[in-house]
Amino acid sequence: MKFSDAIEEIKNRLSIVNVISEYVKLERKGSSYVGICPFHADKNPSFSVNEPRKMYKCFACGKGGNIYTFLQEYLQITFREAVLMLAKKANIEIEDDFSSNESFKKNAEKKNKLYELYRDAANIYYKILFSDIGKAGLNYLISRKLTKETIKKFGLGFAPNDFGYIYNLMKKKGYDDTLLFESKLFRLYNGKPCDTFYNRVMFPLVDTYKHVIGFQSRTLDPKPKERKYVNSDDSLIFHKKSFLYAMNLAYFSKENYYILCEGNMDAITIHQAGFDSAVATMGTAFNEQQMFLLKRKPKKVYLCQDTDEAGVKAIISSDKILKKSGIETYVIDIKPSKDVDEYINNYGVDSFKAKLNNPIPTFLFIISTLKNKYNISDPYELEKYINEIVDRLTEISNTFVRDSYLKKIALQENLDLGILHSLLEKKLKGNKVVYNNETANQNQNISLNNNINKSKISKVDSDFIQLIYLLPEYKNHILSIVSSDELYDDIYKCLYKFYENGVSMSSIYNKIIDRDEDEKQIINTILSYNLSFDEDDKQQILNSLNQVIRKIKIRNAENDTDGSIESIYELNKKIIDINKTIYIK
Ligand SMILES: [Zn+2]
Repeated sequence: MKFSDAIEEIKNRLSIVNVISEYVKLERKGSSYVGICPFHADKNPSFSVNEPRKMYKCFACGKGGNIYTFLQEYLQITFREAVLMLAKKANIEIEDDFSSNESFKKNAEKKNKLYELYRDAANIYYKILFSDIGKAGLNYLISRKLTKETIKKFGLGFAPNDFGYIYNLMKKKGYDDTLLFESKLFRLYNGKPCDTFYNRVMFPLVDTYKHVIGFQSRTLDPKPKERKYVNSDDSLIFHKKSFLYAMNLAYFSKENYYILCEGNMDAITIHQAGFDSAVATMGTAFNEQQMFLLKRKPKKVYLCQDTDEAGVKAIISSDKILKKSGIETYVIDIKPSKDVDEYINNYGVDSFKAKLNNPIPTFLFIISTLKNKYNISDPYELEKYINEIVDRLTEISNTFVRDSYLKKIALQENLDLGILHSLLEKKLKGNKVVYNNETANQNQNISLNNNINKSKISKVDSDFIQLIYLLPEYKNHILSIVSSDELYDDIYKCLYKFYENGVSMSSIYNKIIDRDEDEKQIINTILSYNLSFDEDDKQQILNSLNQVIRKIKIRNAENDTDGSIESIYELNKKIIDINKTIYIK
């Protein structure tokens, strides 16, 4: 069977309950099966598997999908790997299996050889650390208060102060020069093969599949000719930009948060103190690829940076990237210590634990750092300071969150709540708000320059269709929240059906070729209507979608009332609830 045909066939042949049961204990409850969600720190069984629909869904963290997405997430494998794995289970032979393709095979072979080589090298560095020629390295690590257990857990090692030492050992193990040079652990110097790393403490970089894929090294030379920290170059198996140190451990932590810190030593110190969810950016700025690594599990991120100016900057820029992707961030403020190592040494593990139990919302942390910019005993400076706070508050679109921050800031910074509040109101009115909570004008029409049937067009529903097309990854979630019946007109129901069936926006036109001109024109108007915000800003799209869904829900609630006092009372209650609900997270 062809790969593309097998995808559906496997889904049909296999029971999703049986497949997931291999990894999660499931119990029957009504028509579905429930268990403890493997994707977040679940206490109640929030994870539900539905056999007829061939889907799973966690009602707490929102993760959901089919057998393939489950294995991809759970085992950290690719879609193709998941299909091939399940094909075996379903007794389906796949003819056009890429992995039997020659170049794919060669590539995989080379990767495996490199994994082996790096593992061997890591073992050699580790052994040297505990030998006579490794004393300097071991002394350094002991001076950093690492225990032998920690050194073993992280596989730390030492590259001796000898140009060709490791090279000769690897040759003895039978490695040929081509692979040795390709690994970048060795290079030619004046025509002579030698080690890239020497007189350096070695930190093996391990991926979530437990492969050693590279090293970070720290020189012991007090006056180094090269940088203090040097990482392996990128290779077939290592891409520095999409790597987080200690993710191989933190990924499997039961905590519902990651602790994101700067250096490898910070992460190791935190692990040694008993907190297994720390990862480090290895001294560089946190980037988007690393965000995707964190996003694989629905966890919060605690930013734990040095307390210097660079650390505060790092918090602000990491928060920006994380917030954009909908990840909640908090700050672990380790002042007055300069870094986490010093904090744990001076104040102890329990004190650090108390910080983790009570992390500061990043927004509040940033506000508290603003104070250093202004001399607030001067009334003019104080005014500027308050203005900046209020400006930042206006960036928060969720009214509830904004108000609760406002109160906290007033208390934290000892400012008058009333003044802050009226200033905020003023600024908000001045800002152009794209969607507000008004329930009136539900069906305000889009201005049309031609004379098509305006009554068939609803702005709210047009926005809804446009927004959901920007969020294909939320499809199942959206479908479970808004039913087709709740939409305004048959045309929207039909467009929603297209979305459900995975028809791309650009191919909708081909699907409606047979329809009458009037309808085609309406659809054309709906799809070409411009949204009034940045399509790259995911959080804004989600916020807007939530607003649109609220409007749809309120409209339907209004249609359900009969005008009696009781029903209006009920309606008001419903509207309050709807306005509080965040439908899509
Ligand atoms: Zn969950």
